Amino acid sequence: MDFDILYNKIKEYDTICIFGHVRPDGDCYGSLNGLKNIIMTSFPKKRVFCLTAHVESLSFIGRMDDVDDDVFENALAIVCDTSTRDRVHDKRYKLCKEVIKLDHHVIIDNYGDYNIVDEDIPATSLLVTRFLFSYDDLKITSAGATALYTGTVTDTGNFRYRGVNLETFVLAGKLVENGVDVEEVNNQLSMESLRATKLKSVVYKTMKVTKNGAVYANIKKSLIKRYNVTYDEAASLVSLLANIKECPVWVLFIEYPNEIRIRIRSKGPDINMLAEAYGGGGHQKAAGASVKSWVQTASFIKELDRLVKCYKENVPYELKKGL
Ligand code: AMP
Repeated sequence: MDFDILYNKIKEYDTICIFGHVRPDGDCYGSLNGLKNIIMTSFPKKRVFCLTAHVESLSFIGRMDDVDDDVFENALAIVCDTSTRDRVHDKRYKLCKEVIKLDHHVIIDNYGDYNIVDEDIPATSLLVTRFLFSYDDLKITSAGATALYTGTVTDTGNFRYRGVNLETFVLAGKLVENGVDVEEVNNQLSMESLRATKLKSVVYKTMKVTKNGAVYANIKKSLIKRYNVTYDEAASLVSLLANIKECPVWVLFIEYPNEIRIRIRSKGPDINMLAEAYGGGGHQKAAGASVKSWVQTASFIKELDRLVKCYKENVPYELKKGL
């Protein structure tokens, strides 16, 4: 993979703004903070800013910056881990002089002036790590390595998901060599509040299974309020439904103030086309979308059940028209 355009543009610009997606996850935070660290450590005179929403549970790897509009005028924008333009959290990336997209999701929107996308690498943080080790004059501190390592473990599910290969371990090993405290990262990532732990039992009690084996649970606003958990804590509970033998596909619906977010995961059929049909996207086995009403979630589940049926009967699945 050729990173020369990224490398040369970073050298060319004095101000670089690194953007992430809405509802940032570990890989988003990791790639932003890791890339910022590489640029600032290698080229200390440059101004570098990270822009996405703040996530308290990830603040151990870095914080986001407050930036005025005038900063963007002569800046380079690097948008990390964000497949489509409408998922960029801070739309002011459009004010920058040039835009580089750096991503690992299925390509559906090449919104950058330059697009560096590897659909096969399991984390954008690993793409940034590959970039780091492609040029002799790029350097990183232990804080930057920790950010990239965190992004890698979160997006690979602790090195358990498809797409993990020799390069994943080699790059992760090089990060560890640069000062990552592996145990501390694990401690930070596995910590949860007592309230979130209690909410888990509700998810198990209320989950439903469709005729053909899609399991799903709803976390409504009222539940989030009653258990006093953050939306991030609620959303993280999708993994609870992961290991049910009869259910190759699992879904968590989370009711946000203005939308219902769908988190879809699979060990069997590809689910990204269904997510796309509902205005979302993602990977073949991990995707997401947002809908406006519980009526739409019911239609989503019905179609998902049909997809699982086709998968179990080994017949090709075709999206229902007009979804
Ligand atoms: P999540 O459930 O939010 O972790 O999403 C799983 C994957 O799907 C991630 O790679 C997201 O970037 C992607 N994704 C989630 N929601 C959307 C959406 N509304 N549009 C496009 N991609 C999405």
